[in-house]
Amino acid sequence: MAERVIPIVDQRIAALAAGVPAQPIAATGLLSDTLGRPLRDLRISVTDRCNFRCSYCMPKEVFDKDYPYLPHSALLTFEEITRLTRQFIAHGVRKIRLTGGEPLLRKNVEGLVEQLAVLKTIDGEPLDLTLTTNGSLLARKAKALKAAGLQRVTVSLDGLDDEVFRRMNDVDFPVADVLRGIDSAREAGLGPIKINMVVKRGTNEHEILRMARHFRGTGHVLRFIEYMDVGATNGWRMDEVMPSAEVVRMIHAELPLVQLEPSAPGETAERWGYVDGGGEIGVISSVTQAFCGDCNRARLSTEGQLYLCLFASQGHDLRTLLRGGASDEDIASAIGHIWQGRSDRYSQLRGSMAPDTGTGKRRVEMSYIGG
Ligand code: SAM
Ligand code: SF4
Ligand code: SF4
Repeated sequence: MAERVIPIVDQRIAALAAGVPAQPIAATGLLSDTLGRPLRDLRISVTDRCNFRCSYCMPKEVFDKDYPYLPHSALLTFEEITRLTRQFIAHGVRKIRLTGGEPLLRKNVEGLVEQLAVLKTIDGEPLDLTLTTNGSLLARKAKALKAAGLQRVTVSLDGLDDEVFRRMNDVDFPVADVLRGIDSAREAGLGPIKINMVVKRGTNEHEILRMARHFRGTGHVLRFIEYMDVGATNGWRMDEVMPSAEVVRMIHAELPLVQLEPSAPGETAERWGYVDGGGEIGVISSVTQAFCGDCNRARLSTEGQLYLCLFASQGHDLRTLLRGGASDEDIASAIGHIWQGRSDRYSQLRGSMAPDTGTGKRRVEMSYIGG
């Protein structure tokens, strides 16, 4: 087996300056990038910290006690996030996902939810406002999040076997607490709940059927995610990726499935329904089936950098504009300009690119820009 190299990286690579173009770009909701893709989905990372150390995301060897996390002053405030979000919405964003790191670690995150929940899309519709969490603090926070206006949550859960789960989160966190968090979210009305399971061959593939049986008929939508080569620290190898097609085959052999129509353009998950009406599952084939063609997602890092792709190595610094006294129109114009120049389609090109070994331009970490 090839030796695994885990480079030490600092994710704070100098961002590109976000300039205001000479010709203003009005926010009309009709923005599109160089490949004709609109801007619809904004993922906002509210912290770069996490209480888990999932090896595929924040391996302990790198994210240790000496890791240089962002100082508080570098973080966008809730007011700054809301102000930027307004400009993204003016360009056509309809869906907001709060993420991290672990978003529930951000102090009073429900205060941010409250500010975002009152915003409307350019068509005057309510935003689709969701949050992705590891579930560890959900039992404590679900009610307050719902009261603040959060609509749904996605909970990451990589297995039901306590030993497997503790090993995967690498901080010995018990699975029962996450399951309690999921129950609290359901009771609070934060549904339909999505459960995300990253499948890593050799680590948790034997949990696939158990997870499918457990969540079938609950109304929760279990989604299997291919282990991705995000960042530069997780020591990713293709032989640890279990293709979604294999996951579907495995479940179908015991619990027959039929493919369902996609729920929305740009939707990352392929949907499958249980033939006997036990609900649906999803598979996210980020590695084996590129879905860049209609990727309408932008990502805002914890310190206000706009990333155009999960696999980008540089962001565009919006915080400097924001803190430098730019007007809303200038900020919208800058966002428009950046999106119009977007040509990212990493997953489609993956096969023809050299892996990131941490020696060249480093890719941003998932814990920094969120999933
Ligand atoms: N801490 C929260 C959580 O775990 O849900 C939110 C942030 S986490 C970065 C967002 C999602 O990214 C999670 O569902 C996680 O499983 C997924 N993720 C992280 N690293 C990944 C990787 N290398 N491949 C696939 N999914 C990954
Ligand atoms: Fe933390 Fe989520 Fe990354 Fe796991 S996947 S280390 S819970 S940010
Ligand atoms: Fe979108 Fe980049 Fe993922 Fe392609 S690789 S789907 S462009 S985030």
